[in-house]
Amino acid sequence: VQSEKESLLIVLNYAKDFFKHNLSEEEEGQSIGLSYFRERGFTQEVIQKFDLGYSLNQWDALLKAGVAKGYQKDLLEKAGLIICKENKEYDRFRGRVTFPIHNISGRVIAFGARTLKKDDKPKYLNSPETEVYHKSDILYGIFQAKQSIRNEDNSYLVEGYTDVLSLYQAGIENVVASSGTSLTSNQIGLIKRYSQNVTILYDGDTAGINASLRGVDLILERGMNVRVVIFPEGEDPDSYCQKLGGAAFKDYLQEHSQDFILFKTQLHLKEAGNDPIKRAGIIRSIVESIAKIPDPIRQSVFYKECSNLLNIEENILIEEGKKIALSEQ
Ligand code: ATP
Ligand code: MN
Ligand code: MN
Ligand code: MN
Repeated sequence: VQSEKESLLIVLNYAKDFFKHNLSEEEEGQSIGLSYFRERGFTQEVIQKFDLGYSLNQWDALLKAGVAKGYQKDLLEKAGLIICKENKEYDRFRGRVTFPIHNISGRVIAFGARTLKKDDKPKYLNSPETEVYHKSDILYGIFQAKQSIRNEDNSYLVEGYTDVLSLYQAGIENVVASSGTSLTSNQIGLIKRYSQNVTILYDGDTAGINASLRGVDLILERGMNVRVVIFPEGEDPDSYCQKLGGAAFKDYLQEHSQDFILFKTQLHLKEAGNDPIKRAGIIRSIVESIAKIPDPIRQSVFYKECSNLLNIEENILIEEGKKIALSEQ
């Protein structure tokens, strides 16, 4: 007999095909979903590559079709595709464009689905955790990106689905998304299989910058090299890539990519200004990041560079780092 996990993967694959069919063959999907993707500048090629689709604006389009196909309601529910509540059953995703989330071997394990209405909440609706979908263990786009991450020996980490699509379309295929949540150790492990280098491209707003500051110590701890690119306020990688065009966007990445620890040092320095007490306060946070680097040679390079930036003797930083390392043992 089939394992339950395999049954879930089969019904999720069916839903993916159903949503794809809606997008390309149904009048509603074409006029609403497909034209939305086209307006955002996505090509047929990327729509295909990422299996994008559309869920009809009805209560039970997928439910009916799935049951007719022989899938049990119970299975549809366990896959996160329908909601059963107080004797009512209905599709989770209705009137939204759908972004299947693939596992590392390319099987569909969940969906993200975006509303097309301006003020509809939530903007993105996600599958719940299921037996095959653990949000914190997967990165959106990893299946499509993995070969390119290995070839380029670098990965780009973005926040959202559409950031992945726009970059991929511009020929930057080594791109994955954390889907708006802070990075987990398992997610870092996924990209680390293919490369030690990661470049963070978070949204050009305070939330994006703070989010990149948070997840990073975890990446440094794993011995990975972290770079960061900051975007103009109000832009995210998707909007900026579509605005500049692929070639100019790639130039922007080249010109604006900086080492994470140096970025963090400069950012904190700017905040502290000339206030000596504030300056003292930021040193600890920076040394904490440096202390996370497992390789002592790389560590000493950063102590040197930060000592210059902060105008503090290198030895003071090193001693502080030793204290932090001891206290964390
Ligand atoms: P778009 O360009 O389509 O408006 P975005 O990807 O730029 O979307 P952000 O607001 O920057 O959207 O959010 C980044 C990511 O966070 C989204 O792609 C999605 O994965 C996740 N996200 C955003 N809003 C929600 C939500 N309400 N519920 C769950 N996840 C969300
Ligand atoms: Mn954002
Ligand atoms: Mn966006
Ligand atoms: Mn965004």
